[in-house]
Amino acid sequence: MNIKTVGVVGAGSMGGGIANLAAINGYNVILRDISDEYLQRALNNMDKFMSKSVERGKMTPEQKTEALARIQTTTNLEDMKDADIVIEAVIEDLDLKKEVFTQLDEIVREGVILATNTSSMSITLIAEATKRPERVAGMHFFNPAQIMKLVEVVRGYKTSDETVAELKEFSLSLKKEPIEVKKDVPGFIVNRIMTPQFIEAIKLLEEGVASAEDIDKAVTLGLNYPMGPFTLQDYAGVDIGYYVMEYFAKEFNDNKWAPPLLLKQLVRAGRLGKKTGAGFYDYNN
Ligand code: NAD
Repeated sequence: MNIKTVGVVGAGSMGGGIANLAAINGYNVILRDISDEYLQRALNNMDKFMSKSVERGKMTPEQKTEALARIQTTTNLEDMKDADIVIEAVIEDLDLKKEVFTQLDEIVREGVILATNTSSMSITLIAEATKRPERVAGMHFFNPAQIMKLVEVVRGYKTSDETVAELKEFSLSLKKEPIEVKKDVPGFIVNRIMTPQFIEAIKLLEEGVASAEDIDKAVTLGLNYPMGPFTLQDYAGVDIGYYVMEYFAKEFNDNKWAPPLLLKQLVRAGRLGKKTGAGFYDYNN
């Protein structure tokens, strides 16, 4: 593995977190989004995250300054030409991801791995948008990427063994625990298990069985989960769950995975959760 510069496409919650993680671990980073405003927001979030780390004695102020200095931001995808690996973290939209991969394939040096942080979508379909499907794989981080230990390394149909091995090694260099997902199935492992729980939680709320707060309490105290399903969905962004459920329903050809009406209404009303809290909690309580 000879990675010095990590390209990250999309500077939202995940892209910003992944860029920050890579910089903290000594990599140079090229971070791309479609506007300077989004890039600045990502840098502010990184600054906040690392200031807390400094306060807690987990990082020195010098290490924070050095990490920030390793990050170059850009709105120009062409700047990915210098990357030794690229991780895509744009919104969960298959057509957009395919378009980004087709462009990256033209820009990025031959043999460089193109990884996607998709939560649910087919690695094989995304890889088919390039001429290097053997060098395309899922590299699924969890939110916040700087903290959560797991990375799902996901094989597409044509992903090579070398690509999987290099992504595992790269994950370890970021101090993560990689696991290999051997087949390209919707949602991989974690979201395949978590999504039905989200659906049932929303249905319980719709049926008036309990409040969002009490359902969360039931799950945290009864199952010993660190967070209830509504807190977690608000934190991740309720739109992500919605896209994942729509995708599952289509891919599995089974309506049991379809997003419940209440989730649809929240997303249509522009309530995206995500740190602002304007998700399930605001809507119901
Ligand atoms: P987000 O909405 O916070 O960020 C997406 C960013 O992509 C936005 O800043 C947007 O401006 C940018 N973008 C859109 N088109 C672009 C383009 N062509 N080039 C560059 N940037 C572009 O979304 P997120 O929560 O960070 O999710 C990103 C990806 O990570 C999705 O595929 C999602 O499923 C996955 N994911 C999300 C979570 C989570 O908890 N939020 C966890 C794991 C994986």
